[in-house]
Amino acid sequence: MAVVDSIGRGLDAAPGGDVVLTTLDALIDWARGHSPWVMPMGTACCAMELIAASFAKFDFDRHGAFPRPDPRHVDVMVVAGTVTKKMQPAVQRLWDQMPEPKWCIAMGNCAVSGGIFLHDSYTVVRGVDEFLPVDVYIAGCPPRPESLQDAVLQLAKKIRSESIAEGRTHRADLLLPEAPCEPEEAP
Ligand code: SF4
Repeated sequence: MAVVDSIGRGLDAAPGGDVVLTTLDALIDWARGHSPWVMPMGTACCAMELIAASFAKFDFDRHGAFPRPDPRHVDVMVVAGTVTKKMQPAVQRLWDQMPEPKWCIAMGNCAVSGGIFLHDSYTVVRGVDEFLPVDVYIAGCPPRPESLQDAVLQLAKKIRSESIAEGRTHRADLLLPEAPCEPEEAP
């Protein structure tokens, strides 16, 4: 999507280009906001709610949110559960394999901040945002599928407010300091 970013920046700089850019933004944001294909990254008990969310009762398909097991086919990673320091490199690697533009939802207290492992644990990452750029946080232990549904809608709203001129590509590289991927030694 780097080409789309370049087109956006070019249009933004060109005289009268903002008219075309606004129309193009509306079209691209409409398409992206209505087809957030999801990488289900269940790492602990919150994954049960993530699995429940994929059943017909909640009907995520109506939002275009299809679960896909392949990181190269998805737009959104939903990290549901505790991320241990040993698991962190695997989650990071899958994230790196997702094409730009991409978004991240942290589902559950553990993914948001370490949850019940916030204190007194040397094995747990204190929130996915220590190594991924999280767009939407869902609190709860565990959150229900309805909360995930709300998060998908909030994300769609956020996507619709973005412009290709802002160059979302490689946003993660710009926002985050380089995080250590190797698990730390136990004290
Ligand atoms: S937030 Fe609660 S339910 Fe979710 S992974 Fe942590 S302990 Fe389990």
